[in-house]
Amino acid sequence: MKRDHKIRCAKRTLRKMEFKKSAELLERSKKVIPGGITSNVRANWSPHPLFYSHGEGSRVWDVDGNEYIDYVLARGPLLMGHSPHAVLDAAKAQMDIGLMYAGQSELEVEVAERIQKIVPCAERVRFSVSGSEAVHAALRLARSVTGKKKIVRFEGHYHGWFDNIMWNFAPPLDQAGPRESPNLVRATEGQQSEDGANLIVLPWNDLDLVEDLFLTRGDEIAGVITEPIMCNYGAIQPLPGYLEGLRRITQEHGALLIFDEVITGFRVALGGAQELFGVTPDLATFAKAMGAGTLVSAVAGKAKYMDSFGTLETMHAGTYNAAPYCMAAVKTALDLLSENSGALLAKTHSTAYALMQGLEEIAKESSLPMAIRGVPPVFHLSFLPEGSQPVVDYRTVLQSDAPLMRKFWIALQERGIRITPEGLCFVSTAHTEKDVEETLAAVKDALAAVA
Ligand code: PMP
Repeated sequence: MKRDHKIRCAKRTLRKMEFKKSAELLERSKKVIPGGITSNVRANWSPHPLFYSHGEGSRVWDVDGNEYIDYVLARGPLLMGHSPHAVLDAAKAQMDIGLMYAGQSELEVEVAERIQKIVPCAERVRFSVSGSEAVHAALRLARSVTGKKKIVRFEGHYHGWFDNIMWNFAPPLDQAGPRESPNLVRATEGQQSEDGANLIVLPWNDLDLVEDLFLTRGDEIAGVITEPIMCNYGAIQPLPGYLEGLRRITQEHGALLIFDEVITGFRVALGGAQELFGVTPDLATFAKAMGAGTLVSAVAGKAKYMDSFGTLETMHAGTYNAAPYCMAAVKTALDLLSENSGALLAKTHSTAYALMQGLEEIAKESSLPMAIRGVPPVFHLSFLPEGSQPVVDYRTVLQSDAPLMRKFWIALQERGIRITPEGLCFVSTAHTEKDVEETLAAVKDALAAVA
């Protein structure tokens, strides 16, 4: 298929890109698919949502034949790059002998055994399909096993698009209320105030506020959910002691600590952020990197809580859960990532680290205040005006210069570098030193163009 395409832009220099076929497809699509897109998150592209034809390794091509070094990686699932053949071969082999059974397969046990070995909190594992579903299961379980109602979540964290959790992900500041006790702000038309009634929202990285909240309302709180690294808004790291503090406070008050590792899992360390920071939550959710692009997510956690699914006291279900071909893919992906003491992930970390270092160097020389934050292999680029406060949470990340970022993002696309419009970059096992070199040259050029 790739050969049928006229491939432009082997060199990452400015080129005139055309998006004619994408534009035509978008118009056609709009007649059958609302907005022409299948996830609202995909609306925010330039010059309009694009259509893609194929990918290979670190590269992806749009239908107009434009080639990109891809750091979007499907927003995280493609830790092993586009179409990792060993993983897909395992999935295909399973597809040939049985798609789904509405019953168990040995494969799911094998995958769960691997996760149990790799992830510190994973005494038990249940599979589902999307990250949103895994979060849904974790929240239900926390309420079920504690008999309490309230969930604490943090401003700017994303935990999927379901009604009872998608609050205060990106609240407009004129609605967000006081920093210390934010108003509940829904994310979309259609959400009802009752959907958020059992949430309490706090700013992230401020342990005193969590402590105060638990002192007054600890007996109502079933759980605290957090991205252990705030990947969806600026790849912000936890301040020293913060995750440990959440661990201690939740334990003292009989609430569950839930790490949403949908992005960090199997990525920032094989055992996720909980391994990296040495803090073990009660429950954790996984998706994205775990499936290497196949449709799978998981909730994992301590047996004494997870077994409530096993006794059927707490409902968890799904027709597509643990589809054997996805399990075959996950098994192979986890084996590849684990072998030789995690050499493949280590190599990916060093590629990402080299890229981050190169970007730091370029930032130092640039007249523009480019900021690089994150933990390899996921990091974030933004422009932070001089005199900004340290970025530790949602409100401080908003100091970034969004219009300048948009210009820079477009300039990168014009040079064949694809990152998310918000500035998040994922590096895969398929990215090479040459990709890093080409990317750094393009970044330099793009910065000079927007300066
Ligand atoms: N949690 C986190 C941390 C995520 O980043 C995402 C997706 N970006 C989700 C949950 C929801 O996952 P999904 O889109 O698969 O429902």
